[in-house]
Amino acid sequence: MPELRPEHPQGCVSSEERPQGCVSSERSDTLAGDVLAGRRRALAKAITLVESRRADHRAQAQRLLAAILPHSGRSLRVGISGVPGVGKSTFIEALGIYLIERGQRVAVLAVDPSSSLSGGSILGDKTRMERLSQRPEAFIRPSPSAGSLGGVADRTRESLLLCEAAGFDVVIVETVGVGQSETAVAGMTDIFCLLQLPNAGDDLQALKKGIVELADLIVINKADLDAAAATRAQAQMKSALAMFRHPSPHWTPPVLTLSALLKEGMDAFWHEVERYRATLGVSGELAARRRHQARAWMWELIGQGLHERFRSNAAVDRELPALEAAVEAGTTTPAAAAAQLLDHLGH
Ligand code: GDP
Repeated sequence: MPELRPEHPQGCVSSEERPQGCVSSERSDTLAGDVLAGRRRALAKAITLVESRRADHRAQAQRLLAAILPHSGRSLRVGISGVPGVGKSTFIEALGIYLIERGQRVAVLAVDPSSSLSGGSILGDKTRMERLSQRPEAFIRPSPSAGSLGGVADRTRESLLLCEAAGFDVVIVETVGVGQSETAVAGMTDIFCLLQLPNAGDDLQALKKGIVELADLIVINKADLDAAAATRAQAQMKSALAMFRHPSPHWTPPVLTLSALLKEGMDAFWHEVERYRATLGVSGELAARRRHQARAWMWELIGQGLHERFRSNAAVDRELPALEAAVEAGTTTPAAAAAQLLDHLGH
């Protein structure tokens, strides 16, 4: 059953998925219908389309997204982050199966900008989440491997909407604990969960990088290795959290200890997620978070679009080297040079 496997990280998938060319010229309304019917092969194909950077594919992808948008928004979007080795895939697999056993359909996406450098992907390794990937109620998609964090995050945001339209109850977005990808994932999910190791120092790393501030829920994993150490780490994290104020006055991020390997603690974890959803749902904060995320995404795209337009402007290209040199030499102010270049974008 080829459709049960995690899909390729990018571009062309299997020959069954591309009857004519890399992404089929199948009309996006047919594809939209198939996605809405919950067909996983159509979903895989739709994601391949939104990941494509070809201009005609982008246009098709935007039509597709416009068609499915009214049917998106119904899933719970869960962000999972943590350094490599903390147990993210073990945890997501255990959680995914836990949820499936409770009648839910689960999609897993990833944001890993480093995959474009390494050529791999955090979900590209087929041995990861093997059991989950064999379940028909699950859909696992590796990180798009093309481009900058902005590009990777945009594609994942669009894929998330497609998964929702395909009827997945829970969409998990995984990211590695490097760079700015946590901010991107916290910015596209309803609840952002941070996985930590029970050894001293891990909490300091996360604190230093400002990731703890983003967390709505913190998990100390691998508690089976040393229960006392896990409890100590839990206490440390709780006191560290006291330094921050969660955006919601109704929520204090809980710190749980569990073992993904032994599948212990899934109940407690999901209970907290549901409590979060109920608490912030009633107060309207969850809806406000999504509104804010949608607006922020639009502004991010405006910023990216302006930047692209600027860089591809012929007059800017012509004048840039001389103006950069003049700024470096101190013969022109940065402000004057910037104003002259920006003038080429028109008013
Ligand atoms: P990721 O890089 O964050 O996705 O981490 P993995 O899920 O690949 O796990 C890294 C290693 O830690 C693997 O060898 C797992 O079997 C192991 N591991 C994950 N969770 C636990 C746990 O709860 N307890 C123990 N003892 N090992 C775990």
